[in-house]
Amino acid sequence: MKRAFIIATGTELLLGNTADTNSDFIARQLIQAGIKVIGRIIVGDQQEEIMAAFSLGTQLADIIISSGGLGPTRDDLTKETACEVMGVELEIIEEEAVKLKEYFARRQRKMPASNIKQAMFPREAIILANRCGTAPGMYLYKDEKTLIVLPGPPHEMERMFLDEAEPLLREKLKLTDSRALSQVIKVFGPGESQVEEMLAEIIDDPRGCSLALLAEKGEIHIRITAEGTARQESQKILGEIRKRVIMAMGDNVYGYDDDTLISVVTGLLQDKGLILATAESCTGGYLSKMMTDLPGSSASFWGGAVTYDNTAKNKLINVKDDTINTYGAVSEETAREMAAGIKEVAGSDIAVAITGIAGPEGGSDTKPVGLVYIAYLSDGEEKVYQLRFNSHRKGNRILAVKSALDILRRHLQGR
Ligand code: ATP
Repeated sequence: MKRAFIIATGTELLLGNTADTNSDFIARQLIQAGIKVIGRIIVGDQQEEIMAAFSLGTQLADIIISSGGLGPTRDDLTKETACEVMGVELEIIEEEAVKLKEYFARRQRKMPASNIKQAMFPREAIILANRCGTAPGMYLYKDEKTLIVLPGPPHEMERMFLDEAEPLLREKLKLTDSRALSQVIKVFGPGESQVEEMLAEIIDDPRGCSLALLAEKGEIHIRITAEGTARQESQKILGEIRKRVIMAMGDNVYGYDDDTLISVVTGLLQDKGLILATAESCTGGYLSKMMTDLPGSSASFWGGAVTYDNTAKNKLINVKDDTINTYGAVSEETAREMAAGIKEVAGSDIAVAITGIAGPEGGSDTKPVGLVYIAYLSDGEEKVYQLRFNSHRKGNRILAVKSALDILRRHLQGR
């Protein structure tokens, strides 16, 4: 199996101002293509740091992929440094220089002299076109090492990786036949150690596959990878292990690969032609926000009310003052009336309501921080769930929203 090392350059990444999402993307793509990612590094704009990163990459891996630092300014040094480490010289490639000049001419701008370095490449390199910006990338194979240099802006990097770099990798490294097959099964409900217990038998005897558990804010993603070289045989074993994992996890499985709780719930609502409305207190509209993240969600989502203050619960969705005074805003009774209220106002098929104590303040012995009630109401069914989370404010809110989505999913799947 080929081994890859990913490098992200840019001081803003080092300072924590920008998250290194480029390397996340590259890692996911490489793994899917059957390449093992053995390391990642973030370095600033200093040449010696960039040099150290590429040197380490060439020592450890067969494929070294970087993003960032292809701009025209003096602190954009990635390509030059990578070439120095690989022992190749840069020169102006006439064809690229012409393209660059044309790019500026089309925009009726004078090309700054420094931009010419974006047309400089080693003769041995394959130049990767940048359809979204000015800086081309580069693919170079030398001394059994593959070097791929990509630009920093995520949309430029992603397009270049998918359109240019990945097809080259597949072709040159002949990945199609020997690539590892990998699938993800996504679970909501049990925690990581519980999942591990439920899968103990399979983990002990994975039959040439590897199983990795990734905890993702209340979800567990189970990645199964078949590492065999014969594609057909790998596919068969992967299929068998996948079946056993799904059996073991039962109705905790909410989806596969690129599925998200939102995409699954939205799909179920649309398939059944149902409309959902929401009422939220402690999550402040976060569930509505997620429901509208997917384009086209208006076909199944009516909207929601954010009823944070008690008077909002009463004025907007008719929760009785008496109910709040007797049982409290965070109670089974209030959650139930919130769901009933929004369902009435919206005239929807289904309503979900969330009320809870996100923290850090506001908890008591009887109603601690992290206590959340989620009400589900449809024409034939009503149920209120009492849940308890142990995270911080943001974590509790995310867990409440994801739990509400999972409750919806289970009801819609008739579980
Ligand atoms: P440009 O031609 O725009 O200068 P570049 O290839 O030199 O491109 P950078 O200057 O390193 O790229 O980065 C441009 C922007 O792209 C950064 O401000 C940052 O917002 C984003 N970016 C760079 N690297 C990453 C990364 N690893 N993950 C996420 N975003 C990134």
